[in-house]
Amino acid sequence: MFNIILFGPPGSGKGTQAKIIEEKYDLHHISTGDLFRYELKNETELGKKIKHIMEAGELVPDKITIEMLKNKILSFDNPKGFLLDGFPRNNNQAKELDKLLEELGEEVNVLISLDVPEEEIVQRILNRGKTSGRSDDNDENIIRGRYKVYMDQTLPVYKYYENKNKARTVNGVGDIDEISNRILCAVEEHNKK
Ligand code: ADP
Repeated sequence: MFNIILFGPPGSGKGTQAKIIEEKYDLHHISTGDLFRYELKNETELGKKIKHIMEAGELVPDKITIEMLKNKILSFDNPKGFLLDGFPRNNNQAKELDKLLEELGEEVNVLISLDVPEEEIVQRILNRGKTSGRSDDNDENIIRGRYKVYMDQTLPVYKYYENKNKARTVNGVGDIDEISNRILCAVEEHNKK
């Protein structure tokens, strides 16, 4: 398998780039945010439990998130690999992911981080909020709060994979195609290593 983590702050373009990269490498794109929003939309038990957490821009508890991610990964027959978007979001999730993949005889191959400054993030998300229908995209305070959650809880995941020589950063500002190329180059460069 070939497993990539697409990393970066909220609004850094992970979802947009994931669609392009998954096709290129024939991977299964798993977005924990999308999985949670599906639960919300369908008003499932889980959806009801996590609604207020997501609206506040906080992290859903690890127990729920990890369980959902595991079930999703194990639901595929002979996958070629996964493109993870929005997971892992803290070091505990990263360790659990590594454990699960190890049980499958696999590993995270590379983490690609999209670098986008905070002010650009806030503008992008407010813009997206005009059409996304996501309540967490409409309030500048909540957006800045999500960015802070990223800096405090998620950024350590970069270090975690950097220590394993698996982390790369690309500039996440520019044209969509340009950024896709940067990601593909970073993956190829990493694979040559
Ligand atoms: P964005 O990257 O724009 O913040 P996501 O779709 O990745 O959007 O996530 C939306 C929300 O879903 C997060 O703010 C959080 O509440 C929840 N969420 C998504 N992934 C995780 C995760 N791995 N751990 C905990 N909560 C998560």
